[in-house]
Amino acid sequence: MRATFPLGRPAGIPVGAHWSVLMIMALLADLLAGSLLPEAAPGLPTAVYWAAGVAGSVVFFSSLLVHELSHALVARHRGLSVDRITLWLLGGTTEIPGEPPNPGTAFAVAVAGPLASLLAGAAFLGTAVLLPASVPAVVVVTLTWLGWTNLVLAVFNLLPGTPLDGGRILQAVVWKLTGDRRRAQAVAARAGRVLGVVLASAGLVELLWFGSLAGLWLVGIGWFLGFSARAELAAGPAREVLARIRLGEIMTADPVTAPGWFTVRAFVDQAASLPFRTYPVVSFDGRPLGVVSLAALARVPEEARTSTRVEDVCARPPACLVVSPETPLTAVLGRIGGRPGQDLALVVANGVLAGVVSPGDVARTLELAVLGAEARRPAR
Ligand SMILES: [Zn+2]
Repeated sequence: MRATFPLGRPAGIPVGAHWSVLMIMALLADLLAGSLLPEAAPGLPTAVYWAAGVAGSVVFFSSLLVHELSHALVARHRGLSVDRITLWLLGGTTEIPGEPPNPGTAFAVAVAGPLASLLAGAAFLGTAVLLPASVPAVVVVTLTWLGWTNLVLAVFNLLPGTPLDGGRILQAVVWKLTGDRRRAQAVAARAGRVLGVVLASAGLVELLWFGSLAGLWLVGIGWFLGFSARAELAAGPAREVLARIRLGEIMTADPVTAPGWFTVRAFVDQAASLPFRTYPVVSFDGRPLGVVSLAALARVPEEARTSTRVEDVCARPPACLVVSPETPLTAVLGRIGGRPGQDLALVVANGVLAGVVSPGDVARTLELAVLGAEARRPAR
């Protein structure tokens, strides 16, 4: 789910949409303009149905975004970091790299989304009922449709199985009752697998028995649920091992640094005889500033390389990852190596650069963990 286009940064959280969203928006607009609206409010020009259909589909995706933003804002309020929100074929995802510290936080983050959808659904339906009779029927029908789709969205997301919100809620409750986070994770993931099979079977029955193409949709969702739940189950034991590893234990200490005050040209001359592609950048007085890659330096036009300093082009926090030696490995999994500036995490202790963690360090640790060995800090 990589190819996304940016939709802005509400509340500072990057939001993107996968191209598949455009397809679903077109399908929803077509559903509204092509059948729902003409049946419920007949006798209007086609253009009116399409205007209402497109508006309804855009507002629907906005309410999907409100659902995800609710997860994100509650997570941030509770001290978790939020990477980004992506809207895609089957709804939205909010990427929260860390794990909730306690069942209460896990519950609050999970329940925020469905709660927002329930409130949005109630608000749309309430508005549709309370609008004066002079408002055109096509507007009332669109609002009613928005109300019901948000309610359905809330109820669907509350189904108790990972990766749905209801699965996260189940996980938080089992965690609270048993005091065992991993067991709770396994219970919710198993429930997710069962749910996936049930939904896919219901979809197959709908497709084969009733010949309804909507069944195909259910089969897809069921398959996706089962697949995600299985991945979550498989990751369980490994995650337990990884959660105990601190970045200070696997970092490369005393890394080769790029002097921020050097010009790009001067540093490139130096880097030509070094084996690395990415460097931590430090200031003249030794403070860590950010991360620079040869690729980033290559984007500086040739004629500017003698006048541009390395510190002017390096990726700085929050674009680059800054962690402490105590940060667990699980906090950077999936974040490191993804984007320019995040191809290296800076390990900073008391304002001083203690080391760096590269995707290679993380991969090495994971591979050693699979082999049953514990990673130690590489000697250099
Ligand atoms: Zn949700």
